[in-house]
Amino acid sequence: NGRIIFNSIPEGFPVPGETTVYDTSDTIDIDTVTLDGGYLIKTLELSIDPYMRGRMRAPSKKSYSDPYFVGKPLNGFGVGAVIRSEHPEVQVGDHLSGYLDHQQYIIKKDLKGLQKINNSYNLPWSTFIGVLGMPGKTSYMAWKEFSHAKKGETVFVSTGAGPVGSLVIQLAKRDGLKVIGSAGSDEKVKFMKEIGADVAFNYKTTKTTEVLEKEGPIDIYWDNVGGETLDAALNAANIYGRFIECGMISGYNNGHSTGIKNLFQVVAKSLTVSGFIIFRLEAKYGDEFYKTLPPLVASGEIKYTEDVYNGLDKVGDAILAVQKGTNKAKAIVHVADD
Ligand code: NDP
Repeated sequence: NGRIIFNSIPEGFPVPGETTVYDTSDTIDIDTVTLDGGYLIKTLELSIDPYMRGRMRAPSKKSYSDPYFVGKPLNGFGVGAVIRSEHPEVQVGDHLSGYLDHQQYIIKKDLKGLQKINNSYNLPWSTFIGVLGMPGKTSYMAWKEFSHAKKGETVFVSTGAGPVGSLVIQLAKRDGLKVIGSAGSDEKVKFMKEIGADVAFNYKTTKTTEVLEKEGPIDIYWDNVGGETLDAALNAANIYGRFIECGMISGYNNGHSTGIKNLFQVVAKSLTVSGFIIFRLEAKYGDEFYKTLPPLVASGEIKYTEDVYNGLDKVGDAILAVQKGTNKAKAIVHVADD
């Protein structure tokens, strides 16, 4: 029963094989292991997300997410198939999404943190941790709640090729906005154009300030990175602009040490700044999300891309790639076939 153990708290970027280690010492016989009224999950897909870096901290430091504990398995969003069950509400063949330990096989007693997947459109299981999972909900729900988008307005989306940013771009286009997207490679720029961005650029080779000066002012900024990009967006904002503060990944591995110089623009331009954590919006928009998004994904009207790492032992590499920005799209670890 292979698993990923959180081995040490990183300083700076997490190191595969040091911060996290792949461990095979936990052997179970999946045919005979005692379930005690619970059920046995075979892990199929694991989601690798930016917020996981924030969980790699000393447990005494408070944050919105639980810390990882040294010596214990990592966990995160995933999809698993039930292969044995003694639980009255769980049947063999059920597929569940939600929090899973990073293990090949998991014994559970209840459904806490998990939900049964209703896959009526027969979509790949990985979509339930991507465009139909936490990242998709993030884009859909926060766009609905905070954008106050009006046709003809201009939005700037950073990290526009990732799972969150790419859905925001598509939602904004569906609302009739002009979309400017930035990302860190030419391949990602190509994808942003394919999904409808009017202006798409590689911020590593083109200056964000110059693009925003030419294509702005911006009415909405969807912030995934913070730092210099946020500063550029503050300068390029229109009066009554809306800043949706989704993430600040440029600070996740350096103690959030990037200073913002143009914060006074919030006052000068009467900006609204909305920070959020997705789980606080789920009660309001959950039903609507599951009614609206799956058919659009099934018909191909909403597009998504994935960067698949094969094998549980690749978790550490995938985590580092997401933190460095070398992942090509939504990072998924494919653990096992269904
Ligand atoms: P991705 O899978 O797209 O991975 C992260 C990406 O961040 C990288 O690929 C990279 O893309 C980009 N990036 C930009 N600047 C940097 C930098 N300085 N260093 C490293 N990477 C950088 O991420 P998601 O779409 O899953 O998440 C996007 C943002 O949304 C993150 O900030 C995340 O924390 C946030 N988030 C917030 C939630 C909330 O509840 N508030 C919920 C879910 C996500 P590029 O090549 O374009 O630079």
